[in-house]
Amino acid sequence: MSAALALGAVADDYTGASDLANTLTKAGLRTVQTIGVPADDLALPEVDAVVVALKSRSIPAAEAVAKSRAAEGWLRGRGAAHILFKICSTFDSTEAGNIGPVLDALRADAGEAVALVTPAFPETGRTVYQGHLFVGAQPLNESPLKDHPLNPMRDANLVRVLARQSGSPVGLVDTATVAGGADAVAARLDALAESGHGAAIADAIVEADLETLGAAALRRRLSVGASGLGLGLARALVAAGRGAARADALPGAGVGGHTACLAGSCSQATLGQIEAAEAVMPVLRLDPERILSDRTAIGAAIEWAAARLGDGPVLLATSGTPEAVRALQARHGGAEAGHAIEAANAAIAAGLVARGVRRLVVAGGETSGAVVDHLGLRAFLVGPEIAAGVPVLRTAGSEPMLLALKSGNFGGRDFFARALDLMR
Ligand code: ADP
Repeated sequence: MSAALALGAVADDYTGASDLANTLTKAGLRTVQTIGVPADDLALPEVDAVVVALKSRSIPAAEAVAKSRAAEGWLRGRGAAHILFKICSTFDSTEAGNIGPVLDALRADAGEAVALVTPAFPETGRTVYQGHLFVGAQPLNESPLKDHPLNPMRDANLVRVLARQSGSPVGLVDTATVAGGADAVAARLDALAESGHGAAIADAIVEADLETLGAAALRRRLSVGASGLGLGLARALVAAGRGAARADALPGAGVGGHTACLAGSCSQATLGQIEAAEAVMPVLRLDPERILSDRTAIGAAIEWAAARLGDGPVLLATSGTPEAVRALQARHGGAEAGHAIEAANAAIAAGLVARGVRRLVVAGGETSGAVVDHLGLRAFLVGPEIAAGVPVLRTAGSEPMLLALKSGNFGGRDFFARALDLMR
């Protein structure tokens, strides 16, 4: 890669990283997503942005800080003048972090006085007004996020939420200031830095606000936000002459080989997509009880697929209805059953690749993480969009594979057919 990166991003989970990479690509930046901090010698094509995907949202803060700093160091080494720390658009975090501690560390490393922070993404119903985050019409603390199993969000006032996590005072860039344009926002950030603030929650209600915030944020070395701020930063960079006219041209020609789909997500959306797929390809519904108790089940599933791959795509699914999932969890424990089934899906993926599969669609966030880690995939070029937030990914390197990694609720009923269409 010759030119310096226009933008570097450190993402706190894998599917969020894909979502951001997809947003940047659509906005006109040629983007690569890496899994974890890349090796120093990772060869990349000419790109404008790199998104380093970490799994750091729900791990101890000190570990999240160390991983994020390593990612930041790599990105700065590739010339990134600005870094976006990508968080969830619902500000998923606890009083222990990890947004505040990571922000403080990256800001110190960057030698930056203050960072603009906004999880707003109006297109997906996430807006911020007077520092309060809304999910659709509901304040965050009245939305379903109040009951999140890992990080229940019980306060919509992000100035307060972030101040509890961060070592320095947190200020506000309010709607009136944002309406004044990028210069007004930049002046407000200067004033907040002057008075000792290390971060500022920025209001954004409509997409144009994100463009204003992106242009202002770029004048400093670090910002924190979701894909919405990514969009604002990308638009500002493209306006400044960075990026390519058609970023989604990046993935190039077909890769050949067989095609398979795996589903480990048990979401309503995925269950409907599996049902719809039965009309267009052979579908094997795996018995999760057998997966957990019979070591030959994985090999049998791979053989079932191998016998059919020559005729076209196949789908294998462990997914079950909520009742079936509850029953299995009652017998085996929730986390235990989940991780064991993720490992089984990862082993099946490896078996399929060994049988000549080069195009792989995976449904489920955790399932995708397990598959990608098990296959040892390190970097993806980001291609066309299959469904909102789900791009076609092409592995970097000499024998490329195409992948689609879908978090559970994403995509319409015809998701699998659409994915196969775009992966020809
Ligand atoms: P989503 O993106 O929908 O949350 P994930 O892959 O992140 O999907 O999570 C689904 C979890 O459910 C994974 O841990 C997976 O292994 C597990 N799982 C898959 N099939 C079943 C099943 N039939 N019963 C119980 N758990 C299952």
